[in-house]
Amino acid sequence: MRKRLILVLSLFTAVMMLALLGFVYVFPKQPENPVPQTAEEAFVLPEYTGEPSAIMNGGRVYFEETHEESYTELQELDALGRCQEARSCIGPDTLTHEERGDIGMVKPSGWNLARYDDLIEDHYLFNRCHLLGYALTGLLADERNLITGTRCMNVMGMLPYEVEIARYVQRTENHVEYHVTPVFVNDELVCRGVLLQAKSVEDQGSGLQFCVFCFNVQPGVIIHYSDGTSERAEAPSRSMPQPELHYVINLRSGKFHYDDCDGVKTMSESNRKDVWCTRDDLIEEGYKPCGTCNP
Ligand SMILES: [Zn+2]
Repeated sequence: MRKRLILVLSLFTAVMMLALLGFVYVFPKQPENPVPQTAEEAFVLPEYTGEPSAIMNGGRVYFEETHEESYTELQELDALGRCQEARSCIGPDTLTHEERGDIGMVKPSGWNLARYDDLIEDHYLFNRCHLLGYALTGLLADERNLITGTRCMNVMGMLPYEVEIARYVQRTENHVEYHVTPVFVNDELVCRGVLLQAKSVEDQGSGLQFCVFCFNVQPGVIIHYSDGTSERAEAPSRSMPQPELHYVINLRSGKFHYDDCDGVKTMSESNRKDVWCTRDDLIEEGYKPCGTCNP
């Protein structure tokens, strides 16, 4: 009896040891709270609420390293032909005031020409949108620096921040570490927006620092980010809720009327049914509007 108990106990211990070993082997290093190492890992796409941009990470940059010297660093396009994060250190020597040349030969991923004359002042939905702004870096027609971006994102979203950097550098002659990341969802060819991160170098961000996401949207237009096609958003008036009104149904004819229609006055009581509902409710139930009062 005692021998048997020892056998069972040692068997139990052996099984537990094996299970523990297996666990350690399968899950070698599982940190409890993985610390995000890059902006991409830490990034959660913010919800668009009508503002052209949203402050991220409390306005503080995700990157840690800054540079004292000016530089620009563009990455090769990915397998889908999409731009990647562009990094730079903006200084007095990188600002340019020269007239911008032609960039029309570059076709960024998801480039799909569409006009909305009544919605967009410059007619066209998309711009070839610089990641690192031309005025800041002098970078021109480089495919690694141009994305398919809406007029709205370019002008309302990004431009004010680019101007802020240029003014700060002009005023102080300091440097600004500036990273721009287009954010794509899965295999989509048009980015949902761009993350702009900037921090002044010589004063460790006390003079200038921001971390914002600019939305690649255009009010009144629905963009299909998968391929850059687009369509007009439905006019708000069409989705206005219908009023609930007093209608009178003629159960015999299957027609419905406004309550003041002559057809109601001549209707026999046995055929009459009074309802308070929307027009669509009645249509859905199979009733037809009267041709005289046109409800
Ligand atoms: Zn009628």
